[in-house]
Amino acid sequence: MCGIVAYLGKKTAQPILLEGLKRLEYRGYDSAGVALLRDGVIHVTKKGGRIKVLEGILEEPNKSDTIGIGHTRWATHGKPNTTNAHPHLDYTGKIAVVHNGIVENFDTLKIWLRDKGVTFSTDTDTEVIANLIGYFYTEGDDGKWKKQTDGQNKFEWSVQRALHELQGTYGLAILCADYPDILIGAKKGSPLILGVGENEYILASDAAAIVEHTKQAIYLSDNEMVTISSEQFSTKTVDNVEVTKDLQEIEISLAEIELDGFECMMLKEIFEQPKALTMCMGGRLDKQNDKIKLGGMDKYLHDMAGMKRLILTACGTAFHAGLIGEFLFEKLLRVPTEVEYASEFRYRNPIIDEGTFVIAISQSGETLDTIAAIGEAKEKGATVIGLVNVVGSTIARETDGGIYLHVGPEIGVASTKAFMGQVAVLTMLAIELGRRKQISSDEAKMYISEFAKIPDKISSILQQSEHIKEIASANITKENWLFLGRGFNYPVALEGALKLKEISYIHAEGLPAAEMKHGPIALLSDEMPVVFIATAGPQYEKIMGNISEVRARGGKTIVVATEGDDKVKPYADHLITVPDAPEALQPMLTVVPLQLLAYHAAVLRGHDVDKPRNLAKSVTVE
Ligand code: GLU
Repeated sequence: MCGIVAYLGKKTAQPILLEGLKRLEYRGYDSAGVALLRDGVIHVTKKGGRIKVLEGILEEPNKSDTIGIGHTRWATHGKPNTTNAHPHLDYTGKIAVVHNGIVENFDTLKIWLRDKGVTFSTDTDTEVIANLIGYFYTEGDDGKWKKQTDGQNKFEWSVQRALHELQGTYGLAILCADYPDILIGAKKGSPLILGVGENEYILASDAAAIVEHTKQAIYLSDNEMVTISSEQFSTKTVDNVEVTKDLQEIEISLAEIELDGFECMMLKEIFEQPKALTMCMGGRLDKQNDKIKLGGMDKYLHDMAGMKRLILTACGTAFHAGLIGEFLFEKLLRVPTEVEYASEFRYRNPIIDEGTFVIAISQSGETLDTIAAIGEAKEKGATVIGLVNVVGSTIARETDGGIYLHVGPEIGVASTKAFMGQVAVLTMLAIELGRRKQISSDEAKMYISEFAKIPDKISSILQQSEHIKEIASANITKENWLFLGRGFNYPVALEGALKLKEISYIHAEGLPAAEMKHGPIALLSDEMPVVFIATAGPQYEKIMGNISEVRARGGKTIVVATEGDDKVKPYADHLITVPDAPEALQPMLTVVPLQLLAYHAAVLRGHDVDKPRNLAKSVTVE
């Protein structure tokens, strides 16, 4: 949540900050602001609303402003208005801060600072950080912590002194009016990357804001900070111990994060799925030997094939991918598998015995609840495998082993191609582990060859986009929808409902189809469209029975069925077909029409698909 960008170099800072903020806007869009340091004074411009609102009030860029910080907010503490917008100045006006995260002990610190006469002018937790730094900067060493070391500047020492008091999470970029060529960044629990260019530095929440300027970056770890000056930068812990960090190559390209002719990133990402899936499979399907190669997992595959129990943990869409994983691992590996919301897992003292593996799933690799769940699992002795898309992200670094999704950057807030990648990676892992333990080599061969056909099958579903738009249009006034599926397609029903909620703000529920008659059937009327996933498979007859139950009560049905299934036609008010595939591989097909349905519904209702209200991508707060 929230995007931070900061610049120090020789170029005019304001346009670079603004462009960076636009690239990070998917992380939050409640308010935006920039602070520029000029002639020993920090100039802040900030405004509630989207970045384009800020853009409208910014003065012409001043060429001599070559250092500054910017922020696009997803509010946690304090209303999303101009007052609470970042950057926040301290009470002396000398320190400016942009922050991603939550200061958990902000109220205690606020009382403490107020007692000392420090004044506050916003409702945010972040202002406490600015004021704490400002307080130590003004009042100096209170004898309670490390002294300023020889040669260390007072600005850096004050930041360290203040961070020492903070509980919670932060990604920070900080300016001090007295140090016109120093920019400080610090990280704990929220991502922060330093792009290192020719005579310039860009500090940002993610690579999207950096890639235009340089592909060389340093990924800060928790409790680390960076002090950047025009000549050099130094990385150290917040306790002032030097750390050496390696420069890494940013893997994403500019083209991947631009619209490229599409109306929005979500639509682009839906249509990119055949390519994304092909990239995800790249070099992993060994068709000659009927194996799947998963680099980064070699050390664990043998033990995983013999594991006693598997726990998958994730949030939101990734949780739905995890549920599909549960079906996959139980079918292909016959291992007891559970799926846990990461936010619950951490607090329930989970039972993890010897032989338990945990798989954590997150597009960004920065989902705070999932990071916390990983910490809990590791503490209890589990081996934790991370499935993430963003290379070098916190989860990628903090797990024992992992598999990257390699689907390219996902910018649309509502996840589509990353879900595809998550399901694909879980499928590959389940096939490979199953092959080692449970399923015959013929079966493995069949799965691998059918899996390789999925991208083309997705392409054929995408051609139905206009047809799906008509279905969305015919039902656009309906305020409540049901999504029903069985077996492997039950999690897809949950995902279809979530997509519709997220971007069209229509209330939707996903359920296992048979559960409908245990309660939700009472809701049925011709005002409630019911989306059924009724593809060929072992539960086909059962779900046809469920469709009949809905129709008998006047319900209107939108049915996703297998191509060539004529029997289903009389059961469907609207029919969408998908190519046939083995049941275990169907989710990668059946989810696609539901993504398109949600997309078209949102556009027809006039919503900003890439920036759904109240949401932000990459949930880096608890
Ligand atoms: N807690 C800060 C605020 O509410 C930052 C939130 C964020 O990370 O987006 O302003």
